[in-house]
Amino acid sequence: MKKYNIDGEYNHYEIAPDELESFIVSLAEQNLSGVNITIPHKEQMLKYVDMCDESADFIQAINTVVVDKDGKRIGINTDVYGFVTNLQENAQDFNFKESKALVLGAGGAARAIIAGLLGDLNVSVIILLNRTREKAEDLKQSFIHSVNNMLVKSGDEEDIKKKAEAFVSRIQIIDWEYLNDIIKDVNLVVNTTSLGMIGQPELKIDLSTLPKKSLVTDIVFNPLETDLLRQARVGGYQTIDGLGMLLHQAAPGFKYWFDPDDKAIESLPVVDDELRNYVLKGLNN
Ligand code: NAP
Repeated sequence: MKKYNIDGEYNHYEIAPDELESFIVSLAEQNLSGVNITIPHKEQMLKYVDMCDESADFIQAINTVVVDKDGKRIGINTDVYGFVTNLQENAQDFNFKESKALVLGAGGAARAIIAGLLGDLNVSVIILLNRTREKAEDLKQSFIHSVNNMLVKSGDEEDIKKKAEAFVSRIQIIDWEYLNDIIKDVNLVVNTTSLGMIGQPELKIDLSTLPKKSLVTDIVFNPLETDLLRQARVGGYQTIDGLGMLLHQAAPGFKYWFDPDDKAIESLPVVDDELRNYVLKGLNN
């Protein structure tokens, strides 16, 4: 904000689930340009916005709300962009197209990660594990529905259901208890659960059978190096932390809040070492 001469503040608000509606419906009254949404509200937020952009609609989760000039709340999802950009920037030699991804978790953030893996990164298979298996099944079903809607909107009329099912059939769900058995069959590991985050239990995982040249990424960014990433680094695997995703997802949100007409700020704020170090300093305080 300082860099762009914007007179404003970015604050944390801890909002309990039963206070979410009253907080969100009064954003305009509170004179807020918008908010970022984090754990555990991303999916619930769909109920409290006036409309969604295509990404939030597709993913069925919101990480950014923009209050427009009429006071309407627009739900947006920039997590896909953040996740994909972070991986593309930091793993330029990794062949995502041929890769088999293990995704842990089926919460609000997992939806964006899976959309990015299936779409832009175009991985060959996603093995999805969630403590509560039904939530993983629901997520898969909701993706079939979203792809179906997308094809209808694009004017495609042929075999829509089959095409949607084929697109999503790359997601294979298995039970959480098989976590350590499946490691040998994948070469990309993504933690989207809250395990490993400060104040949460550790993710118990054994990477010893993970094939060489695999890539391990954690979207938890506090601590920056989670136990998962430390184990992967020590094992000689390439690792990518979650801070890059956090910074990249924030850039389009910043533009929507402060330059909705695309007139004042020429391009998205740049995610560079200066910004990364500035945010890291804040996280460590
Ligand atoms: P969420 O919707 O509440 O989902 C939490 C996920 O963690 C669920 O899959 C849940 O499984 C699983 N989980 C929680 N406790 C568990 C346990 N003890 N054992 C096994 N699984 C457990 O949260 P979210 O919004 O997806 O966020 C998840 C994490 O990602 C948070 O740490 C958040 O800070 C981080 N995140 C980072 C970025 C970034 O930009 N880097 C962006 C988004 C989120 P169940 O379904 O069984 O409850």
